[in-house]
Amino acid sequence: MILVLIDHDGGEIDPLSLRALTAARKLGHDVEAVVIGQSGAELAAIAGEYGASILHVASHASISDYTPMASGRALKDLVEKLNPAAVLAAGSPRGNEQLAHLAAFLDIPMAAECSQITLGAPHHVLRARWAGNLIESANVHSELLIATVLSFSTEPESINGPAASVSQFEPNVQPADTIVRVLSRSTGESKGGVTLNDAKVIVSGGRGVGGPDGFGNLEELATLLGGTVGCSRVVTSSGWRPHAEQVGQTGTKVAPDLYIAAGISGAMQHIAGMKNSKTIVVINTDPEAPILRYADYAIIGDLHQVIPALTSAIRQAKG
Ligand SMILES: Cc1cc2nc3c(=O)[nH]c(=O)nc-3n(C[C@H](O)[C@H](O)[C@H](O)COP(=O)(O)OP(=O)(O)OC[C@H]3O[C@@H](n4cnc5c(N)ncnc54)[C@H](O)[C@@H]3O)c2cc1C
Repeated sequence: MILVLIDHDGGEIDPLSLRALTAARKLGHDVEAVVIGQSGAELAAIAGEYGASILHVASHASISDYTPMASGRALKDLVEKLNPAAVLAAGSPRGNEQLAHLAAFLDIPMAAECSQITLGAPHHVLRARWAGNLIESANVHSELLIATVLSFSTEPESINGPAASVSQFEPNVQPADTIVRVLSRSTGESKGGVTLNDAKVIVSGGRGVGGPDGFGNLEELATLLGGTVGCSRVVTSSGWRPHAEQVGQTGTKVAPDLYIAAGISGAMQHIAGMKNSKTIVVINTDPEAPILRYADYAIIGDLHQVIPALTSAIRQAKG
């Protein structure tokens, strides 16, 4: 049996977990799922739809929000009870963090961001390193494989299975497991209520935007296209936009239908976060900018002229 951690936020599933469930199913074993926190029990239907027969629900008085070390503890308790062949999760920052705690508790290795997994003795994985610029082929020498699935390496496939049956358990959470916990939240949503993770269109700006005020034009275009604004790390480090909008290796990894990169040079750490976008449009004054290698369409020009021109043309076309 393969155990898959379904990550969620107050009962709202991280869609990358569906890719992890699909990857698990394709390994040819039975699949069971686990959620941390009582609100995750609502996900029994979708867990079953994507192939899990049982949804284990870890609930404890001290788990009310994301508590990564307590997640690791709950997973450890469940692994010791169920003895699965592998534990998988999405290769998101949260998925990687929670499984790293599990691996630390069990004192065995963990393979993060795997694009291919073969169970055996040893297990074999291909995994993305250096922002996806290097694919590592590695053997994992432990009986239990703990691995996360590289974002967007597997398409989520429903099998229309029946709802998973829910099995509650109370993990043996220690006080020290809740040292890292969520104290407060600020929303990362754009004005239109679309986040980077679910946006079909992202209009992303880099240093070339010139300052926080320059993002007004990008916001206008994003809103017109029903999308949201993203940015490079230079932009967040300069305090022009919040970190929640950063795309890349240390930001959010995205794969929208349309990614418009304006005033972004194309450092590998940025490319790592957006190269899976279906269509990439680049707006840059430099015809030699590295990001042009990834462009489906490119406009060589000043974004301060190009973006208002695009916005006005789209407005006219929409009537
Ligand atoms: C460990 C590590 C992790 C990192 N993680 C990330 C990450 O997650 N995300 C990320 O983005 N970066 C990340 N970086 C930073 C990354 O290496 C680059 O420094 C950063 O992406 C560059 O941002 P930029 O493209 O906005 O700026 P620049 O590289 O300065 O590029 C600006 C671009 O704007 C163009 N331009 C200028 N004026 C205009 C104009 N008027 N109109 C049109 N184009 C114009 C220029 O030709 C240039 O191509 C990371 C770096 C490290 C070391």
